[in-house]
Order: sequence, then C-alpha cells, then structure tokens
Amino acid sequence: MNPYEIFLNQLEKGASVLELPEHVVDVLREPERVIEVSIPVRMDDGTVKVFRGWRSEHNTALGPAKGGIRYHWEVTKEEVMALSAWMSMKNALLDLPYGGGKGGVKVNPKQLSEGELERLSRGFMDKIYKYIGPDQDVPAPDVYTNPKIMAWMMDEYEKLAGRKAPGVITGKPLILGGSRGREYATAIGGFFVLREALKLNSTNFEGKTVAIQGFGNAGSFIGKFLYENSAKVVAVSDSKGGIYNPGGLPIPEVIKCKKKTGSVVDFPGAERITNEELLTLDVDILVPAALEGVITEKNADQVKAKYIVELANGPVTPKADEILYNKGTFILPDILANAGGVTVSYFEWVQNRMGYYWDEEEVVEKLDKKMSKAFREMCEAMESYEVNSREASYTVALRRIVEAMEARGVV
Ligand code: NAD
Repeated sequence: MNPYEIFLNQLEKGASVLELPEHVVDVLREPERVIEVSIPVRMDDGTVKVFRGWRSEHNTALGPAKGGIRYHWEVTKEEVMALSAWMSMKNALLDLPYGGGKGGVKVNPKQLSEGELERLSRGFMDKIYKYIGPDQDVPAPDVYTNPKIMAWMMDEYEKLAGRKAPGVITGKPLILGGSRGREYATAIGGFFVLREALKLNSTNFEGKTVAIQGFGNAGSFIGKFLYENSAKVVAVSDSKGGIYNPGGLPIPEVIKCKKKTGSVVDFPGAERITNEELLTLDVDILVPAALEGVITEKNADQVKAKYIVELANGPVTPKADEILYNKGTFILPDILANAGGVTVSYFEWVQNRMGYYWDEEEVVEKLDKKMSKAFREMCEAMESYEVNSREASYTVALRRIVEAMEARGVV
C-alpha cells in the first residue's frame, strides 16, 4: 500500500462508522488540488539543476489549507497527497479553523550548499506563490526543513506580494514572528496525550520504560520530557542505528552526544541495537518518531509495548493496526499524538494576525487544553461507537469536516 492507499483505507473505516453517504466520501477521496512544479536552481558551479515539487490541498471546508513542506529524496506525489489528507484529519480533530495541506520537494538537502538551498526554497515559493497566503494555504516546516527555510520562503512571498505577511507561513524564527514553544510543540503535545492515556488507566510516568525510534526534533524532545518526569527511557535510535540500556539512558547526555557526533550510536555505556530490534523491546511505551510504515504485519505481533505514541506520521500500517488492537495495545494515533506542532503553528498564525505575542507559559497552557480536549473527544467516540482509537479519532475529525461541507452546500 502506498501512503495514499493507507489514508483511503482509514477514511473508509471512519466513514463506515459514521455511515456517511457515498457521495460525501467521494469528495474526501480526492485532494481538492495538487500543484506540481519544476524548480530550476542555479548551482554553485554555474550549472542548472531542475527539482520537482508538489503542494497538495486535500480539503479546505474548515479553512485555509495548513501543513508542512518536506524536503526528501524519496518524496512522491502520493506521499504528499496522503500527508495533506492526514493534515485535514488532524486539523479537524484539534478543532483548528484549517483544512489540510502538505508540500514536498524531491531533493537531498544534505547535498546542497546553503546558497543552493536558499535558491531552491525561494524558487519553490515563486512557483506556488499564487496558491499560498494567510487566508488560502499556510505552509510550515516538516522533515529536513526548518525555521531558516521558512524565513526565506516568507521573505520571497512578501517580495512578490509587495507587503508584509507573516501569517503566510509558520515555524518561523522568533524574530520574524515565530511562536514561543514551537520548537518542542510536537513532542510536548504527544507527552500531554500520553499523560491523559496513563491517567485513564490510573497510572503515571513514574518508572515506565520507553523506547523511542528517531531522535530528531520530535523524538529527542519527548525523550527529554519523559526523562524529566521520571520515566525510564531505555532505548533511542536514529538513521545510523540504536542504543539500549535496560537501566535507563541519561537523555540530556544522549542529546549532547547526538549534537556533537551527529548520531546517538556512539553513546558510551549502552548496547548497540538495530532500529528493528528497538521496536520489539520489552517496554511499556513505544514512540515511533521517524518515518512511515515501520510497524507492519511482519513485526506487529512482536511489539510488546502497551502504549504506542505515534509522533511520526503513519508509522503503523492498517494490517499491523488490527494485530495491535487485538492484543489490547493503546495506540495514540498520529493525527492526535503529533498534532502539537500544527496547534502551536495555529497559535503562531493567530499571534501574527493580532500582532501581539504570548509568553511561553501561555502557549504551553493553551496547547495542553487543546490536546487534552481532543483526547477526551476521541475517548468519547471510542465509547459511543465502540471502535478503536484510530477509528474514533477519524470519526471526530470527519464529523467536523462533513458539517462544514454541508454548511457550505458542497454536499
Ligand atoms: P527530524 O528530521 O528532526 O528527525 C528525524 C529523525 O529520524 C532523525 O534523528 C533521523 O536520524 C531519524 N531517522 C531517519 N531515518 C530513520 C530510520 N530509517 N530509522 C530510524 N530513525 C531514522 O524530523 P522530525 O521533525 O522529528 O519528524 C519526525 C517525524 O515526526 C516525521 O514523521 C514527521 O512527519 C513527524 N512530525 C513532525 C512534526 C514536527 O513538528 N517536527 C510534526 C508532526 C509530525
């Protein structure tokens, strides 16, 4: 299954729980618009290279499209479409006034100089400029894009528009209207919903063992929050491999090691493990925070964790879902667990529109409220429809999107 087929499978399940009419599901099966562009970039050696990029707007019934831009050598149109559809669901579940969008450029950014990266980012914005705007489509960072790239893109947009428009993009540096707390928002959002899930089972973080796959922005910050709250993070990994210490890893030291050496694998006093081994460790909590499709029907029955916090988008395939739910695993689905990032992006957009900026505590407190409310709504749907957490989160999201489409007279 490609990622878009996975989305379609999830959509069908949610739609059948809600008994949505076929013509309504038809609208949601297709993105509203997919823009495909070629971006010629002058390289440092004087030659010109052409890169391919996409921006997909899946559904905008609830508001402007919203979602990140990914730079990756394996990005495909179907992947960008799937990610935009997941953004529609995520934004609706969190009750944000947004539709779903996502962008991608097929490039290995590690092979570009800083100047080439800037010209590519400005070139992409030149090509999608007409379709982007604070009231139209609002991008943000994703894998291998960052605040610096967002700043170049915003600057390019403002030059073309002939006016200031900080709300055109989120995840910006603070000095250009970024929000406090955005850097760790995805991780702390996941941390908040995990806290609620533990509370539901009358327990807390104390002594819980944790394995985290992917030690980038999302993975390293959730590691830090869990460590600071008395959980025992026993394993972490990145693209070079993983490390394991059943006695617990000192996460602040591991973060320092990753910053210094570019990886966690050389951290002393821990056993080297593979990324595959990490997923099946005997732990209480598993946090996939790297890529899609890592838990499949091949390894799902060996997963021992009682809780899975999906900080990555789409880490569990539909077949693996069945196996895990049958075992009683509590999955905090991606559209809930990693929604902290887009929620603080929404706060950034609101602050840009007001021209008035909140302090960090205010941002985190508002995020906690939003995440906890979405968690409660998901649990209510689990109970009232007698469905699993993923299907429940889809029903909450779909109900809102369909209500907006009906109010507009689209369906
Ligand atoms: P990142 O680029 O900061 O970190 C990714 C990490 O994954 C790196 O440590 C990298 O070494 C590791 N990695 C790459 N390939 C791997 C592999 N095959 N096995 C194990 N580890 C591997 O990215 P991020 O922003 O932390 O995003 C991680 C995931 O979280 C993605 O799926 C992304 O879509 C999702 N996500 C991120 C945000 C956000 O705000 N950062 C928001 C929502 C969802």
